[in-house]
Amino acid sequence: MDLVTVTPRFPMPGETVLGKRISFFPGGKGANQACAIARLGGKPRFIGKVGNDSFGLQIISNLRQAGVDTSNVFAEQDMSTGTAMILVTESGENAIVVASGANQHVDAAFVADRLQRIDFRTILVQLETPLETVLECKHRAKLTILNPAPATDLPPEIYRDLDWITPNETEVERLTGIQPLDTESCEAAAQALRSRGVRNVVITLGAKGSYLVTSEGSHHCASIEVSVVDSTAAGDAFSGALAMSLNAGLPPERAVRIANCAGALTTTKMGAQPSLPTYEDLKFACPDLF
Ligand code: ADP
Repeated sequence: MDLVTVTPRFPMPGETVLGKRISFFPGGKGANQACAIARLGGKPRFIGKVGNDSFGLQIISNLRQAGVDTSNVFAEQDMSTGTAMILVTESGENAIVVASGANQHVDAAFVADRLQRIDFRTILVQLETPLETVLECKHRAKLTILNPAPATDLPPEIYRDLDWITPNETEVERLTGIQPLDTESCEAAAQALRSRGVRNVVITLGAKGSYLVTSEGSHHCASIEVSVVDSTAAGDAFSGALAMSLNAGLPPERAVRIANCAGALTTTKMGAQPSLPTYEDLKFACPDLF
């Protein structure tokens, strides 16, 4: 759950500042990505944990309403639901504290147990749960897509035999030390990831679209032009749409172009989950891709 407060300025240590109001938004990268898939007409099954608190109940009910199967989302006793406390100043700066709570209890044994009960082909996984869950997914899925967010350093075994990775500009720089400024640096960063064992790399570049590298070659895939209102969740929409398209067997370049379109449309509306496009929205905006 994202708790967002607008404040005249950030408090100094020990200081109390009076904020204006607080808003509650269901969030979490995995939840947003599952909603992105459901909005596009897919049938995502979400594996995860919430706390045994009111946020947990709201999160589960919100996912259900969005069309996500939550039969593998468990409420942990004596745990809090993963929460992000977001302070936004009137000038638009933000400062965020994430309390992972129940997310840290999504361990390899839990994931393995849940996956045994599901018939699936593709897993989309993020880094808001422990790294051991990524390894577990990789061993069990035909196709594993890692959205390496939030940005963090990763041990070598995460990359080995990983099917897809979808870093944004900040994340790819954190993972490779290379800033993706132009075609050469995107290529160098993607090849650095491929040399660690990732099969397919797509670096998301905001308004500049994305850079795709597979064993077949490299492509800069331009996005569509949009009027940006709020870019929150563009990356989540991108990863969700990519997972859905690859799961349906679409070729990589087409899957990435559809994902670009989903990311772009998300920036045209306020908020995270409310701004995710439907299948009809995508078809209308990018008719040549369908
Ligand atoms: P994140 O939200 O993780 O920072 P990006 O900003 O790279 O991710 O956005 C993900 C994708 O969404 C991009 O690869 C692009 O296809 C699309 N996108 C994001 N912002 C824009 C924009 N201003 N115009 C067009 N497409 C965009």
